[in-house]
Amino acid sequence: MYCEHCGAALNEASHFCANCGAPIAVSVKPAVPIENPKTAAMRTPILVFGILGLAFAWPYFFLWIPGFIFSIIAICKIGKYRAAGGQLTGKAKAGNILATIGLVFNSLWLSLIVAAGIAYGVYALIRHFA
Ligand SMILES: [Zn+2]
Repeated sequence: MYCEHCGAALNEASHFCANCGAPIAVSVKPAVPIENPKTAAMRTPILVFGILGLAFAWPYFFLWIPGFIFSIIAICKIGKYRAAGGQLTGKAKAGNILATIGLVFNSLWLSLIVAAGIAYGVYALIRHFA
């Protein structure tokens, strides 16, 4: 930190320049902390993948397969976002909720299809041997 008046190096703790006696302007801290641009840029993709995960969460054809993948991508992105110091607010919070709901539904359709497959397999075996 240097004096605005004479350019001399200043002692951070003092209120006046030791060289010229000019008062030292107190640096004003921003009221809102400036966010890391890296985490700020991560929020929109989280929301987009969260929306896609839930939008595809239907037991219709195999929409739930990309839905499952989108929900997982959103959750992985949330993990990286939080690891980078991002807060779960705004778009990140919305994306997290959508991805969680999407994952529940997509997992449900996956479980039902697997269960139906097993049931059909057992039925076919019984028919075969009965
Ligand atoms: Zn000075």
